[in-house]
Amino acid sequence: MTGFSEFSQEILVMAILQECPPEEMEIANWIQEKSVAYSQGEMQKPLVSELWAIRGKANEVRVKKIASRSKLPLIWLDKSPGINGERGIDKLNGERGVLLLRDRVSPFIEQFQHPIGRCAKFYKLTAYNNCNFWCEYCYLYLTFRTQPVSTHFINYEKMYDEIIKFDKSKIPKTLRVLNLGELGDPLAVDYMTGFAKQIIPFMPEHAPKTRLLFLTKSDCVDDILHLDHGGQSIISFSVNTDVVFQQLEHRTASPDARIIAAAKAQKAGYEIRLRIDPIIFYSTWERDYVALVDKIFEYVQPARITIGEYRPSNGLANHISSRFPDSPLLKINRSLVKEGKKLRYPKNLRIKMFGTIIEAIKKYRSDIDIALCKEQPAIWKALCLDKKGLKCNCLS
Ligand code: SF4
Repeated sequence: MTGFSEFSQEILVMAILQECPPEEMEIANWIQEKSVAYSQGEMQKPLVSELWAIRGKANEVRVKKIASRSKLPLIWLDKSPGINGERGIDKLNGERGVLLLRDRVSPFIEQFQHPIGRCAKFYKLTAYNNCNFWCEYCYLYLTFRTQPVSTHFINYEKMYDEIIKFDKSKIPKTLRVLNLGELGDPLAVDYMTGFAKQIIPFMPEHAPKTRLLFLTKSDCVDDILHLDHGGQSIISFSVNTDVVFQQLEHRTASPDARIIAAAKAQKAGYEIRLRIDPIIFYSTWERDYVALVDKIFEYVQPARITIGEYRPSNGLANHISSRFPDSPLLKINRSLVKEGKKLRYPKNLRIKMFGTIIEAIKKYRSDIDIALCKEQPAIWKALCLDKKGLKCNCLS
């Protein structure tokens, strides 16, 4: 909590409400319920139907091992595939229905830098580029617009060398976390690659001062439950309401399944964090997000919860529409307000949604660490949240 008085908080909230009266944006922001973009049949297909590998640029033994584990056809290519000219499901199948295996030439560990300083400079570990899930709001459609095929980097030896060097370097304790979930979902296809069960026990043995952060919408945790993780791996689940899941998070595990997986991982001694992000405004949002919080605390005691609202980059809409031409997000985008390079819900609506969710969380745990993802200081203040000693998803 800040020393911000209730009175000054009220004034701030009033100022924000005057800036964006709620009645102007409420209807326009509704998600179109019952408009699932793809049929259930399409959603039930396996996440990945083929493995691709680049000849001469991928360890052949490791490629064959992953191919045999996954039991999928393996196709060798001469060079990295680029953009396909398709639209809709064909485009998604061509990009996210396959998994490309290759060596990474760029560093595996890089520091994140938010363009306007709204986030800590955490470190990311890029074992995957892109993802095999099909969330309609995924910012990676824009990030990987020229190399859209989901990729797993398999020159683990280079990665391990970098981790050992990182562990020995003088980095403040709060930044000693390697985030595996910034450029992909690190557990989405782990049942095929078996990567998590190699890197998790590597840490206590070779990098005792560094932690790993797996951010996921998968529920595939069974392979990691019995590992010697030494308390150095954090499993963070991104959860949302059933409506958002059904409408927008295609091919992911259901929110219930993710919460049950979180409970299993917690029982196995992993630190569990949660993200409720992206929060989306629709007709029954209030009831649904409160029910989500109730469900969370029925099963799991997260160490931290980080929340954030739907905030697409300006250029994302074209990439969404080429894959999901009927996406409700395209309509929502038109009623968002511009803030720097992002579109966001008006401030008063953000405060209302965050406040509702925070209140529901605090009913269960008044002392829990709650953070807002990449949000303005004024919004933190309006919600009596303190940024000092920040404890959010991506920090130790
Ligand atoms: S799980 Fe994350 S990375 Fe994967 S599609 Fe959804 S938003 Fe993108």
